[in-house]
Amino acid sequence: MPHLTAMQLDEPGRPLRAVQRPIPAPGPGEMLIAVSACGVCRTDLHVVDGEVAARYPIVPGHEIVGRVLALGAGVTGFAPGQRVGVPWLGRTCGRCAYCRSGRENLCDSPEFTGATRDGGYASHVVADAHYCFALPERFSDAEVAPLLCAGLIGWRALRLAGEAPVVGLYGFGAAAHILAQVATWQGRRVHAFTKPGDGAGQDFARSLGCVWAGGADELPPEELDAALIFAPAGELVPLALKAVRKGGRVVCAGIHMSDIPSFPYADLWEERQILSVANLTREDGVSFFAVAEQSGLATVTEEFPLGEANRALARLRSGELIGAAVLRP
Ligand SMILES: [Zn+2]
Ligand SMILES: [Zn+2]
Repeated sequence: MPHLTAMQLDEPGRPLRAVQRPIPAPGPGEMLIAVSACGVCRTDLHVVDGEVAARYPIVPGHEIVGRVLALGAGVTGFAPGQRVGVPWLGRTCGRCAYCRSGRENLCDSPEFTGATRDGGYASHVVADAHYCFALPERFSDAEVAPLLCAGLIGWRALRLAGEAPVVGLYGFGAAAHILAQVATWQGRRVHAFTKPGDGAGQDFARSLGCVWAGGADELPPEELDAALIFAPAGELVPLALKAVRKGGRVVCAGIHMSDIPSFPYADLWEERQILSVANLTREDGVSFFAVAEQSGLATVTEEFPLGEANRALARLRSGELIGAAVLRP
């Protein structure tokens, strides 16, 4: 019987280990996919650290690019051999008040790829076809992988920022390097905030169209209409509030963040808003991949063999990565 290889997390805080198991057959509505690339997302670190809800053991990975090997009963819209993407949103109930009101990202009983169902740090994955995407052709497998979460959830965060001609991006990693290009293409002025003293990160941000780049402890040369926070550091929230104008928004785009320090009410007053982004809807994916096609954006990736998943996670944790890490089985 053919086997798949996966990098599995047995319990939080442990290194991933290589496992082999029989390749499962896709159930009704599912597809068996041969993985060709899987992006490494900060949420994977939160899964490894036990900071977000997950089941264990689990195979992480929710920026999956692969080709359809087999269709389960009732799957329509996909064909064997087709390239597909599998995102974080693995399944929703379709019945709760959120699902029925176009907010399936907030579903009461969701499944998440790489957290509550096995993900793409593997040679093969089984996914619910209803939540998979066809992908823009102009990207290679490795290039398109980071779009499936860093790009997509960043896109949702940018939409929640509203009109916002002047935006700030706090934490210039995988998501911000994509969103800076999209926002610039939309005609916005983008300011990038990195760790203080991260000259390489600031140069990278300017090379992608940012009009200014500096440390997160600095104020930008103009007031922001909105700030998007991608780094999981709660102390950025009061800093970003000081950088946004009256009526401006601070959008927290991560799934986990350290505690937010207290701050004077005066910094929130004048109708400034703080909001968070949770997950994605399928509509976010459809609209974002259209923008990814039109905007001419390019992703910067660092590739690792699947067996070096622990090293990729360590590189992400250390802040040394430029762009996004991608695993290749
Ligand atoms: Zn639901
Ligand atoms: Zn993610």
